[in-house]
Amino acid sequence: MSTSRRQFLRRVSASVAAMPFVSGRGLEAGWGEPNRIRVADPASLISLDSNENPTGPSSRAMAAIRDAVAEGNRYPYELVAALREKAAAFHGVTTKEILLGCGSTEHLRMIVDAFATRGSGLVAATPTYEAPLSAARRRGIPVAAPPLTADLRLDLDAMLNAAAGAGLVYLCNPNNPTGTIRSKSDIEGFIRAVLAKSPKATIVVDEAYFEYVDDPAYDTVVPLALADPRVLVLRTMSKVYGMAGLRIGYAVGHADTIAALGAHSLNLNINTVGAAGAIASLGDQDHVRKERKRNGELRASTRAFFEKAGYQVAVSQTNFLLVDVRQPIADFRKACQDRGVLIGRRFAPLETHARITIGTKDEMKKAVKVFADVLGVSAQAG
Ligand code: PLP
Repeated sequence: MSTSRRQFLRRVSASVAAMPFVSGRGLEAGWGEPNRIRVADPASLISLDSNENPTGPSSRAMAAIRDAVAEGNRYPYELVAALREKAAAFHGVTTKEILLGCGSTEHLRMIVDAFATRGSGLVAATPTYEAPLSAARRRGIPVAAPPLTADLRLDLDAMLNAAAGAGLVYLCNPNNPTGTIRSKSDIEGFIRAVLAKSPKATIVVDEAYFEYVDDPAYDTVVPLALADPRVLVLRTMSKVYGMAGLRIGYAVGHADTIAALGAHSLNLNINTVGAAGAIASLGDQDHVRKERKRNGELRASTRAFFEKAGYQVAVSQTNFLLVDVRQPIADFRKACQDRGVLIGRRFAPLETHARITIGTKDEMKKAVKVFADVLGVSAQAG
C-alpha cells in the first residue's frame, strides 16, 4: 500500500475515531457469505480480498481526476455524455449501444429487473459473481446455478440444460472466483444454442477481467451483442483501469437492449470525478499494457509458489488466483488476516479454496511469507 493511501485511510479512520473502525470490504459484503472484518487500523492490512488493481488509476487518469474535483459543484451532464462518446468510440459503436452504470454492479441489478421474472428466471453458475444471483433472490426470481466442471470452468452444457424457459442467462467470462475462462468459440456456440432453445432468454456476458486474459482462444463477444438484441456485454473500469472506488462500468449491446436496460438505470448515476478519470483511462491503453504485464508476472510467481509447495491452483486469466489450500477456508482466511493479509471469502461449494488477489510486488512478497507460514511450507518454493 502506498504511503499516501495509508495516510489517507488513517485520516479517515481518525475522523470517525469515536467508533471502532468497521470495514465491510468487498462488493460481496452483505451478499451470501459475510465478507466483514473488524479492524482498528485498516491501513495496516494488505488487501488481497476484492480483486482491486493496487496500482491504478494511471497517472493520466489521476491528473484528470484531480482537475475534476474542482468541478464537483456542477452536475456532470457534459462529462457523462463525453464518457459515453469515449466508450462508444473505444468500441467503434454508437452512443445508443452504450449504457453507463455505477460500476457494472448497477448493470448486474438492471439486467435482473429488465430480463428476469418470477416466471422466467436466472441461469448462472455456482460459484460465480454473485451480484445478479442475489438481486434475483431478493426479488423472488428463481435461480438455477449448476456447479462448475471438475477443472473449475463454467459448465456450459449444464447451463444450456438449465436455460429452457429462462429470462436471463449470466456468464462471467473469465469467471470470478475461479479466474478460469471459456474460449470464444465455446461461448459463441453456447450463445447460439441458448438463442435457439430459450426464446425468452437474454444472455449477459460479464467481461470484467477481459483485459487480463492471455489465452489466445479467448475473446470478447461484443460483436455478437451488437448483432443480436438478446446478447449483452458488461465491462468495468474497476479492474485493469484501477478505478474501483470511482464506480464506473458500462454495457455494450444492441440499441434496443440498451434502451430496455436503461429504463432501470438511475438518472445521473455517474459522478464528475469518475467520468473524468474513465475518459482519461480509456485513452491510456499503454497503462493497460503495463498493468497486464505487471499482473501477469506476479500471478505467475505467486502461482509457482503454491504449485511448488504442492497446492493446486485454478488456471486463472485474471488478477486473482484460486488455490486449494486443503483446509477450511474460514480457518486459512482468519490465520492470514491475523498476520495482516486479507483474502477472499468462502465461495461455496469450494470449502477449501482461497481466492487471492494479486497485489503489488512488495505486497505479494510479504503475503507469500504469510501464506507459507500458515501452510507450514517454505516461502522459497516460488
Ligand atoms: N463483475 C465481476 C465478474 C466482478 O468480479 C466484479 C467485482 O469484483 C464486478 C462485476 C463489479 O464490478 P464494479 O466495480 O464494476 O461494480
